[in-house]
Amino acid sequence: MDAKSLKPAIGIDLGTTYTCVAHWKNNRVEIIVNDQGNRTTPSYVAFTDNERLIGDAAYNQAALNPINTVFDAKRLIGRKFRDESVQSDIKLWPFKVTSNSDDRPVIVVASKGEKKQFAPEEISAMVLLKMKQIAETYIGSTVEDAVVTVPAYFNGAQRQATRDAGAIAGLNILRIISEPTAAAIAYGLSNDSGTPGMRNVLVFDLGGGTFDVSIVKIKAGNFEVKATAGDTHLGGEDFDNRMVKYYVDEFKKKHNKDISSNPKAIRRLRTACEKAKRILSSSGETRIDVDALFKGIDFSAKVTRPKFEELNGDLFKKCMETVEKCLVDAQMNKNAVDDIVMVGGSSRIPKVQQMLRELFNGKELCKNINPDEAVAYGAAIQASILSGQTSNDMLKVPHRDLALVEVTPLSLGVVSRGHDMSIIIPRNTPIPTKMNKSYTTVYDDQPAVEIQVLEGERANPKDNNLLGTFKLDLTPAPRGVPKLDICFSMDANGILNVTAQDETSGKEKSIRVTSGRLSSQDIERMIKEAQKFKVEDEEYRKKTAAKVDLENYMLNLKDAVKFSHSSLAYKRKIEEVQQWLNVNQLAQVHEFEKKKDELARFCSQVL
Ligand code: AMP
Repeated sequence: MDAKSLKPAIGIDLGTTYTCVAHWKNNRVEIIVNDQGNRTTPSYVAFTDNERLIGDAAYNQAALNPINTVFDAKRLIGRKFRDESVQSDIKLWPFKVTSNSDDRPVIVVASKGEKKQFAPEEISAMVLLKMKQIAETYIGSTVEDAVVTVPAYFNGAQRQATRDAGAIAGLNILRIISEPTAAAIAYGLSNDSGTPGMRNVLVFDLGGGTFDVSIVKIKAGNFEVKATAGDTHLGGEDFDNRMVKYYVDEFKKKHNKDISSNPKAIRRLRTACEKAKRILSSSGETRIDVDALFKGIDFSAKVTRPKFEELNGDLFKKCMETVEKCLVDAQMNKNAVDDIVMVGGSSRIPKVQQMLRELFNGKELCKNINPDEAVAYGAAIQASILSGQTSNDMLKVPHRDLALVEVTPLSLGVVSRGHDMSIIIPRNTPIPTKMNKSYTTVYDDQPAVEIQVLEGERANPKDNNLLGTFKLDLTPAPRGVPKLDICFSMDANGILNVTAQDETSGKEKSIRVTSGRLSSQDIERMIKEAQKFKVEDEEYRKKTAAKVDLENYMLNLKDAVKFSHSSLAYKRKIEEVQQWLNVNQLAQVHEFEKKKDELARFCSQVL
């Protein structure tokens, strides 16, 4: 196949604060520069009286137009308005966010003199559209196909919303992949050197406002995210804030003046501190100079690397603790980590690198790809493979068979018999996957079944998360006769399709689960709860099994004695047991067993 005749495909790292686009050209990845000559573009959209600005133009006017400059859409995408993290983020943003009737967040701005509302997907779509245009200008042709990255902990709803944003921007999303997976691809870590047959990669991603650690297991070209940990509000901006706070105090001491209530002075000081922080990653010391910072007073100070490290020591320590937590969650010894991949601008900080190396007993870090660009770099490789532009020999690593394997964070199943969680796809199953199970009816001539789709590890359906319900009409038949096939299929993007089919009539119904999925914190909580309630759940399973056993016995008996000469006596006894069952749904295992024995004894006496 001639690669040149194929349509171009791009990789986009859609970041919280910056977005980066790359593509495969002349046997290597190229990061595409934007119209300002920058290799990353701010994920900012601004609305003014006469235009809409995206990227650098939006970012540059943010201070003058704060309430109509939108950023951080990634913190909102695919979430519910009442989500705890949305509620706390709203307090930090200068722009307005409200809720629609579906409990989805809506961003409210004034655009061209009119009040306008946008979904987070629409804001992300505007950023993606800008990246598409940047790529088109650079490549010189229309671009449609793209691979977009999302954090590893994004659930199905967040992935689907990101995919929707791509579609709104006119992109054909080839695949949504996890950021750490893309970073590992960038370093060509899918080859099997080192531990035969597999590699464990720790991706340390410290950006401007977020920190993510992921452990990715690579086996025969398959990528599996084993565990993720992090802090959605920790990054370079916090390091800047520590410096700002220190110098505000210094200014007060020296001039007896408090600049903290003057936003413009604080903004100018923060910009100077951020610049100094970057310099301190390559020099031992630098100066911070701001002319006429406050009431005509110039500010000038020397800052050393040790001082910067002292101001942020506890935050750096927190990063290392998060790495350790991730290892515990992945049940992995640090000696089992083959590679440590550095991602995000703040991963350049020498102290952070040193602490990480020490944690891994002097292990060298993978940091030769620009940490701001590693994710887009990997996404571009993946895009070129999916669009058939790269062949095996064009890449240094055996990417040809590369399949991106992620896993289901929680078990997925349906409610069976009204009180059981029946698992169809177990937790940690690599996706894409398709699994099915057969069910039948509980009652004679049952006209329909209600299929309730659940996510979770608990035995009792009410302790799990209900993803959706639908009803399938059945051809009336004696109980146990209809064969109902329920198929769960989850695609590579984590989107779930559930289909139920009555095999007798061929009738089929399905739903697509794209919303209401759980956040990473909820997933973690549910797994912990399942461990905590393991004994209780086991007891619940035994109880429901004993109850089902008694119900079945009664139903079979009802059928068997229909034409018996003592049918009335049986009927009365069955009714008596049924009444007992109605008020003792939560009885103990031995009580259900006792009732069944009582019924059996009754039968033998009547006979
Ligand atoms: P990102 O979100 O990956 O673009 O990271 C941006 C963050 O990285 C910002 O907080 C920057 O201040 C920070 N950053 C970029 N370069 C450096 C550097 N050389 N040293 C320290 N921090 C940096």
